[in-house]
Amino acid sequence: MSNKTESELPIDFKPGDYKSPLKPIWCAGCGNYAVLNALAMAFAQLKIPRHEIAVITGIGCSSRLPGYLSTYGFNTLHGRAVPIATGVKLANPKATVIAAGGDGDMFSIGGGHLAHVARRNVDLTLVVMDNRVYGLTKGQMSPTTPIDSYTSTTTYGSYEQPVNMVRFMLGYGTGFVARAFSGDMKQMAALVKQGIQHRGFSFIQALSPCVTYRGKGEYDSIKSMSAQLPDDYDPTDQLAAWQVSDDSEKIHLGLIYHNPELVPYDTKLDKLREKARGPHKQEIARLIDEFRP
Ligand code: SF4
Repeated sequence: MSNKTESELPIDFKPGDYKSPLKPIWCAGCGNYAVLNALAMAFAQLKIPRHEIAVITGIGCSSRLPGYLSTYGFNTLHGRAVPIATGVKLANPKATVIAAGGDGDMFSIGGGHLAHVARRNVDLTLVVMDNRVYGLTKGQMSPTTPIDSYTSTTTYGSYEQPVNMVRFMLGYGTGFVARAFSGDMKQMAALVKQGIQHRGFSFIQALSPCVTYRGKGEYDSIKSMSAQLPDDYDPTDQLAAWQVSDDSEKIHLGLIYHNPELVPYDTKLDKLREKARGPHKQEIARLIDEFRP
């Protein structure tokens, strides 16, 4: 199915239509499989043609993602998925653009880009596959490794405060902040779908266990701490979102914060272009006429 051309695809896209013929080389049980499936499911539910999607990643186990999808996409430099994805979106505002990568790629190497994609409110969805360790390079402490964890670089236990992704992204003014878990792929797909539908920058922390370097118990450990946001939770309440982000006892899953009122970057740019052209409109029209073949 995945090697068919666009015109051969059925109108009702299936998640498998978005998969490439490449077989993932992730370890058996890796949380990244659920993220791949969740993305494919969200694309299918939104019926987005493959040629209108671009998935941009950096470097890491999770950043192999574009190779396993039949959409546009590529591995950029380590930590640089967000600026490249921003460029893709500005060049083709109609495209559905996904930036993705791991916790180290996004919050260490590429951490400086997050504040700017959020404040600009670029209309793309960032999925951070948080496995709480550097997997590709064999298990070093990452920005989200929990305190006292034993890794190849913390043989006496990690001692650095882990990054709280949700709090960071709320602080940067992100208008859509959600948290999902590979143990619940359907919810992850629903959140990716909502993130894509949100007009502006959307951020999804996808807890994606590394069974090789964090152990097979990582799923159970996250599951035992996880809690769904209650039905009466209001994601437009910013104070509630801050409280959720600060809860160290539980890992809350779901849409934590949503502000649909923020103006997306492309809308701001359109207005700016109009303003810049305004006084020169007649002259621009005259020049176009003059040089028209
Ligand atoms: Fe997944 Fe960890 Fe294996 Fe990388 S090393 S593929 S993150 S389980």
